[in-house]
Amino acid sequence: MLRSHHCGALDIKNVNEKVVLSGWVAKRRDFGSLTFIDLRDRYGITQLSFNEEYSKELLIQSRELGREFVIQIEGTVAERSNKNLKIKTGEIEIIVEKLTILNSSLTPPFTIDDETDGGDDIRMQYRYLDLRREPVRNNLILRHQVAKHVRQYLDCLDFIEVETPVLIKSTPEGARDFVVPSRMNQGQFYALPQSPQTFKQLLMVSGFDKYYQIVKCFRDEDLRADRQPEFTQIDCELSFVEQEDILNIFEGMVQHLFKEVKGIDIGTLPRMTFEDAMKWYGNDKPDIRFEMKFNYITELTRGKNFPVFDAAETVLAISAKGCATYTRKQLDELTEWVKRPQIGAKGLVYVMCNEDGSYKSSVDKFYTQEDLKAWANTSQAEAGDLLLLLCGDTKKVQKQMSELRLEMGERIGYRDKNNYKALWVIDFPLLEQDEETGKWHAMHHPFTSPKPSDIPLLDTNPGAIKANAYDLVINGVEIGGGSIRIHNKELQAKMFEVLGFSDDEARYQFGFLMNAFEYGAPPHGGIALGFDRLCSMFGGADSIRDFIAFPKNNQGRDMMIDAPSTIDDKQLTELGVRVS
Ligand code: ASP
Repeated sequence: MLRSHHCGALDIKNVNEKVVLSGWVAKRRDFGSLTFIDLRDRYGITQLSFNEEYSKELLIQSRELGREFVIQIEGTVAERSNKNLKIKTGEIEIIVEKLTILNSSLTPPFTIDDETDGGDDIRMQYRYLDLRREPVRNNLILRHQVAKHVRQYLDCLDFIEVETPVLIKSTPEGARDFVVPSRMNQGQFYALPQSPQTFKQLLMVSGFDKYYQIVKCFRDEDLRADRQPEFTQIDCELSFVEQEDILNIFEGMVQHLFKEVKGIDIGTLPRMTFEDAMKWYGNDKPDIRFEMKFNYITELTRGKNFPVFDAAETVLAISAKGCATYTRKQLDELTEWVKRPQIGAKGLVYVMCNEDGSYKSSVDKFYTQEDLKAWANTSQAEAGDLLLLLCGDTKKVQKQMSELRLEMGERIGYRDKNNYKALWVIDFPLLEQDEETGKWHAMHHPFTSPKPSDIPLLDTNPGAIKANAYDLVINGVEIGGGSIRIHNKELQAKMFEVLGFSDDEARYQFGFLMNAFEYGAPPHGGIALGFDRLCSMFGGADSIRDFIAFPKNNQGRDMMIDAPSTIDDKQLTELGVRVS
C-alpha cells in the first residue's frame, strides 16, 4: 500500500504514530525555516510540516512541490500548536521524515478549492480537476447515497433490476430521438431510448412482476439549466396494480429517501387533481411551500367602466403578504417584469391594503374603496398586503399569474431550498390538442390508460378523457411521472387511431408491443423519477449539472472530450451515411 491512512483519518489519538500518506499538494505555505503543506485526497486534508531543525534537505525538497503534485510521505503524527477545529484532522500535523514525488503537475487553470475562480467553461473543460473540489465531490457522493437507498428500498419490496438495451427503435416520449447509423444494415438507424418504456412493459408481459432500473435516457431537446441530453431515471414498472398501489409504494420511497438522505420526515403526500392545480396555481407542478392561491374576481370587477377588465375573460388576483409597502419604483419594476416577453402580460394592476384600512390602487379612477375592499376580502388580503391582478384569456392569464406567484414567493422568501413540500398531481387529461393542427397528442405517452369510465369518450369527446396518470412534484419541480398502462390490444389500437396513426404506422412502430399484448399481458403500470433532479434537490441546488460527473453544457457539448465532433470520410462511407 502506498499509504497507511488516508488524509481524513488521523486525529489527536494518533499522536506519535508513524504513518505513510499519499495525496495531492493542495496548498504550500513557506515560513523561513518551516514549510506547511496541505495534503488532499478524497477523504480530507492533512497538514504536513517540513522543519529545518529536522531536515534541511527535506525542507529544500518541499519547496519544489507545486500545486497538485502527487506525493507520498512518511512521518510522525504530532499535536499542532495552531489548531483548526473545523476539520477532523485539524488538531494534528505530520512531521515529515521522507518525501517521494509520485507525479508532478502543471499549474491547474483554476484554484481547486471550495470557492474557485474558474468559470463554468474552464471547469467543464478540466472537469477531472473540478471533481477534486470537495463540494463537487460531495454532490457525487450524495448521488451514490441516493442510488443506494433507492436500491435498498426497492429490493426490500422484491423489485428486480433488469437492464434494457440502448440501441433500440424510437420510444414515444415526445422529444426527438438521438439516432445511431447501423453499419451492418446500411440506411437503417437505431434510436437511443428516450426511456425504457416499451421494454419495461414487455417485462411485465414476461411475468417479471416488479422491475426497476437506474437507467440512462436520451432526449434530443433544447437544453436548459435542469436538462441534459442524457440523463438518468429511476424507472419502475409493476404488474397487477392500480394507481393507488403505485402512489403508495412510491410515496413510501420518497419518505424513505428523505429520511435516509436528509433525516427529514416528509410526511404524507397530499394529492391534487390536475384541474385544481391549474385552477389554483396555474401550473401542473405547483410549488406548495406557500399558499398565495389564485382568486377569481372577474365578476367583482365587471361593469365599472374599466374597459380592460370588462373585456377580459378572467381577472385573477393574488395576495402578497406584507408587500403593501412596495414603493412606486418596485411596482413599476414588477410591472415591467410581467410585461417581459417570457411572461407576456399586458400590464399589472395592484391594490395596496394600507394599515389604516384604506386601499390604494392603480385603478382608483374606476373603483371605489368598497369595490377594492370586496376584492381584498375575496382574496384574503389583510392590512399590509399587496393585491396583484392580471387579466386576459383564462388559460393564458393562469400561466402568467403562475409565474408572478412564483416570483413573489421568491421575493418574499417562501421558497426556502431546505423546506421540502412534495405532492402527487393526479387525474391528468389523457390527450391534449395541438392548437394549430387540431391533432391529439398523448399528454403522458400513448400507452397510458384512460380512466375506465371515460373510455367511451374516445369516440365522442377525447379532450374530456382523464388518464390514470400521476406526477410526483417536489418544491414546484416535476420529479417524476407515470401511469397505469393499456394492456388490451383493442384499446391500444384505438388509442393509436385517436392519435392519428394509421394501422400500418402503428404496426411498423409498435407492432412488437401489440403482438405481445396477444399473449396474456397482465394489468400493469409504473413510474419514472428523474434521478439527477432528485439528487440536485437533495443537494439544495437548482442545476442538475453538478450532480453528474461529466455533464454537457447548454449547447449539448462535452467541453472536456470535445464532443460531438466530426468523423472522417472513411467512417461515414462505412456507415452508409455519407452525403456526397
Ligand atoms: N416512461 C415515462 C417517462 O419517461 C415514465 C412512465 O410512464 O413510467 O416519463
